[in-house]
Amino acid sequence: MTRDDALALDAHDPLAPLREQFALPPGTIYLDGNSLGVLPRATPARVAEVVTGEWGTGLIGSWNQAGWITLPQRVGDKIARLVGAAPGELVAADSTSVNLYKVLAAALAIVRADAPQRTRIVSERSNFPTDLYIAESLAAERGFELLLVDTPEAIPAALDERCAVLMLTHVNYRTGRLHDMAALTRAAHAAGALAVWDLAHSAGAVPVDLNAAEADFAIGCGYKFLNGGPGAPAFVWAHRRHAGRFAQPLSGWMGHAAPFEFTPGYRPAPGIVRYLCGTPAILALAALECGVDTVLAAESFGGMAALRAKSLALTRLFANELRVRCPQLVQVSPESDAERGSQVCLAPRDEPELAYATVQALIARGVVGDFRAPDILRFGFTPLYLRHVDAYDAAVQLAEVLERGEWRRPEFNRRQAVT
Ligand SMILES: *Cc1c(COP(=O)(O)O)cnc(C)c1O
Repeated sequence: MTRDDALALDAHDPLAPLREQFALPPGTIYLDGNSLGVLPRATPARVAEVVTGEWGTGLIGSWNQAGWITLPQRVGDKIARLVGAAPGELVAADSTSVNLYKVLAAALAIVRADAPQRTRIVSERSNFPTDLYIAESLAAERGFELLLVDTPEAIPAALDERCAVLMLTHVNYRTGRLHDMAALTRAAHAAGALAVWDLAHSAGAVPVDLNAAEADFAIGCGYKFLNGGPGAPAFVWAHRRHAGRFAQPLSGWMGHAAPFEFTPGYRPAPGIVRYLCGTPAILALAALECGVDTVLAAESFGGMAALRAKSLALTRLFANELRVRCPQLVQVSPESDAERGSQVCLAPRDEPELAYATVQALIARGVVGDFRAPDILRFGFTPLYLRHVDAYDAAVQLAEVLERGEWRRPEFNRRQAVT
C-alpha cells in the first residue's frame, strides 16, 4: 500500500462527507474516539441555544415547552436505532457504571426469584475495571460470587447450573476483541442464566442487534463512539420480556410512574423509564443528542453496516502497515475481522516502557492514541471522521517514532494522571 493508494480509497469512500460533521483540530489524526469522541460542529450552537434560549428565556417552562422532561427518552429512541432496540426500550441516563449497577441488580433479583440456587456472576478478568468493581460490590451485598475467567474461550465452561448472570463487555477495551453476542447470549440462556452486555465500545462502532440476540439487559457509553462529549450520559436497555419485572435499585422520582403526583410511596414507571433516577442533565443530554445524530447521519449512507465496513478497512490498513513497518510491536487486537472491534492495540515485543512513551511521542506529533496499563498502545478508529490516509500516515509516524528512538526522550516518559 502506498500513500496514493490510501488517497484513492478516500476519493471513492461513500462515507467521506460524514467527516464534515466534525470540528477536527487541524493537523491532528485523532485515534482516540473510543475514549472521547470528537466535537460535532452542531454541538456548540445547540448547547448555546439550550442555555440562552431554553434555560435563559424559557426558564422552568422549558421542562414542558422544550420537551426537557422526555429528553432521556427522545435521545434513548435515537440510540435504540443504533443497537437493535425498539422505540421506548432504551433511555439515556446517568453513567455507564451507575447503569450497570441498576441492570445487574435487576438481573440478580430476577434469577434469585426464579432459581435461588444460582449464585454466580460470570465475567472476564480483562473486563473494564469499573464493571468488575460494580459487580464485586453487588455480589458482596446480595450474597453472590463473582467468577472471572481468563480467556474468552473459557466462558462456555463457566456457564453451568451455578451461573446466575453472564456479564460481558461486547468489545474489550484493551484488546479490541469482539464477542459473538448472539451465541454467548444463547449459551447463557441454555444454561439458565441471564446475559448483561456492556456496549461501551460497540454503540456507534459495530453493528449491534440487542433484540435479535435476545440479550436481557444492556448499557453503554455516550462519550465514546456516540460523540456526546466528556462525561456524557450513558444509556440503558432491558428486553421487553422482563417488562414489569426488572427492579430499579435506585428508586428515584424520575423513574416513578407519576412523579408529579408527589405521592410518598414508590411505584415504578412501567417500562425502561423506571431506570431514570433523578433529574436528567439537560445540557449534557442536548450535547449527547448532537453526537448521536452524527452517527444516525450515516443511515442515508448504509448505516452501521457501512460504518463497520469502513472501520474494518481502516483497522486492517493500519495493522497491515504496522506489521511491515514496526517489528518492535506485536498486535494484541484480533487479526480476524469478525473478532475485532473498531480499534487496533499493540504491545512492545521487548521493552514494555516503550508503550507509554511512544504514545506520548505520537501525541506530540499530532497523532492521538492512548495507553492502557501495563503495556498497551491503543488506537481507536471512528469511521465517521477518519480517512484511509489518516490510518496510513499514523502508521508512518509510529514507525518513525520507534526507528528514531524518539520515545526515549524524558518528556515522553513522565506519566500523567490520565493515560
Ligand atoms: C468507558 C467504559 C466505561 C465507563 O464507565 P463510566 O461510568 O462512564 O466511567 C464502563 N465500562 C466499559 C466497558 C467502558 O469501556
